[in-house]
Amino acid sequence: MASIPVGILGATGMVGQQFIALLAQHPWFKVEWLGASQRSEGKAFRDAAAWRLPNALPDDVAKKIVNSATPGNAPKLVFSGLDSSVAGEIEAAFAAAGHIVVSNSRNYRMHDTVPLMIPEVNAEHLALLDAQGKAEGWRGRIVTNPNCATVVLAMALAPLRQFGLETTLVTTLQAISGAGYPGVPSWDILGNIIPHIGGGEEEKIETETAKILGALGQNRIDNHPVRVSATTTRVPVQNGHTASVSVGLAQQPTPEAVINAWNLFRGRPQELELPSAPPQPLVYLNEVNRPQPLLDANRDGGMTVTIGRLRPCPLSTYKFVALGHNTIRGAAGAAILNAELMHRQGLL
Ligand code: NAP
Repeated sequence: MASIPVGILGATGMVGQQFIALLAQHPWFKVEWLGASQRSEGKAFRDAAAWRLPNALPDDVAKKIVNSATPGNAPKLVFSGLDSSVAGEIEAAFAAAGHIVVSNSRNYRMHDTVPLMIPEVNAEHLALLDAQGKAEGWRGRIVTNPNCATVVLAMALAPLRQFGLETTLVTTLQAISGAGYPGVPSWDILGNIIPHIGGGEEEKIETETAKILGALGQNRIDNHPVRVSATTTRVPVQNGHTASVSVGLAQQPTPEAVINAWNLFRGRPQELELPSAPPQPLVYLNEVNRPQPLLDANRDGGMTVTIGRLRPCPLSTYKFVALGHNTIRGAAGAAILNAELMHRQGLL
């Protein structure tokens, strides 16, 4: 029986809808409150949002009235899929009012005492929360998950740290659902590739990765020394961000050792058997034509990152292709996994 009430900020957007779909059958969390902009406030959810997902909109949520995005009557735990142009102010107001905000937005990811979490990779970073209240002046807390392309890259890189990870060159092919709804005009994206994604996408991949892979220091994270260079592109794919990656390693592991490191990689969510944890977070496929968004983005409910095409790189050590679901592992599913870990660690 779901017993922990939760709210969703930005409930009407692409990520907000994914929260609603993923929480519909959740064993612990129950959606009790929805918040969005003045455009949606006061309307029943079904009238405020254009439901874009293949799963049916749950009846109880369809009838709920959307609230203004202000603290007051929302539950203590609030997921956020707010547009980043407004997330900074709104999430801070909720944290100041004592809420636990589990956010997808970029606004607080790089703050020293805000954990930027992939629970399989850096569960210990939650310890930053001890220092956060004093540093930020909040009664509540903010925890974040990475940018939707960063999470694919950082999960694939995490097991490579043992081989002396030094450099990473990445080019992404990102799905249109990553741009929200209605997103990129069809005239621009159909039969096309757009070689630029706004909002500092490349900088986010370059800076967030080092924090995620870093070590817990004194009230901050000591970044991993990996140097990352990113090019991001938008492609006519509905769901699933693909990344073509080259890595420079200090050691020369065999391809078998690298593939084993990926396939055997597990973390706290698997140990704790968290409800959203995939049994095997990284899956390597031997077929030369995989991973593909249409075939692989939904593996294990969209929470697994699929890797393929490992081969030597003439410029660095190895190159490969990685893929993950951008609105699930890259957004709502990632935030729900963060909240599950926090619940099991007594932090909610
Ligand atoms: P979206 O579809 O454009 O949805 C944005 C949401 O923010 C809507 O619910 C909207 O409410 C709300 N909003 C906008 N202005 C507001 C205001 N002034 N006050 C209160 N609420 C307001 O965007 P999205 O794709 O879901 O992305 C949401 C966030 O998640 C962004 O920060 C994005 O960068 C991040 N993210 C997205 C993805 C992805 O794959 N899509 C992945 C990772 C992270 P109304 O409907 O009422 O306007």
